[in-house]
Amino acid sequence: MGPDAPTILGIFAHPDDESLACGGLIARAAALSARVVLVSLTRGEGGPAPESDAAALAAQRSEEFKAAARVLGAEAAVVLDHADGMLPWLDHAALERDIRQLVATHQPDVVVTFDADGLYWHPDHISVHERVTAVVAALGAAAPALFYVSMPPGQMRAVAARAGGADVVPGLHDPDAFGAAAPPPTLVIDAGSLAARKLAAIRCHVSQFAASAFAMLTADDAALIAHEHYRRADVGAAGLTLLDRIGTPPARASA
Ligand SMILES: [Zn+2]
Repeated sequence: MGPDAPTILGIFAHPDDESLACGGLIARAAALSARVVLVSLTRGEGGPAPESDAAALAAQRSEEFKAAARVLGAEAAVVLDHADGMLPWLDHAALERDIRQLVATHQPDVVVTFDADGLYWHPDHISVHERVTAVVAALGAAAPALFYVSMPPGQMRAVAARAGGADVVPGLHDPDAFGAAAPPPTLVIDAGSLAARKLAAIRCHVSQFAASAFAMLTADDAALIAHEHYRRADVGAAGLTLLDRIGTPPARASA
């Protein structure tokens, strides 16, 4: 794969992280013929599900993940079965072995994962940030490029406000938690007309968002979630990537 048709490997903790955090990037990259492989390290069985048991929820969320990947144009959606809610306390070496194997299998040009703030200090997200960073750092000269995603501060507040104050993520009542502690981005990616596809992908995660603010947005409201923040990691390959081509530097006022 060359720079015109690169492979992007997105590594996340739960089904829905990929669409919520990176739906715009994934849709734009796929539209440019990039090969996108999405990974959820857990099946999301710990998510709120008053109606279903953990096994049923895991199965449902895995299907929702695959549906969202199809909407975004990703080539594959891989679900591993590490324990939801437990990633910081699992054997780091075992997680890193799986991540290293994913990189070896898919040979990505770019790996994308959470930034150090875990979108909103979610312990699983922060753990994925740490494990992916360690794996990429250890690959040295053979490493792909590594980018971290975070949420533009205020974006989830705008979504909640448009939906009359509903939670954007069930059970998370403070929309300002998203992006509040994010390190400054080095790139902003604008989903543009593909923002509606990002919203549609988020809505594929019915078990998570059927009663959330995202269920109440119109297609026009998708512009609220068009912007995504990315930061180039200190480790990984340094060359120009697809993200550098489609992204723009942050506005000086917010840098
Ligand atoms: Zn998550």
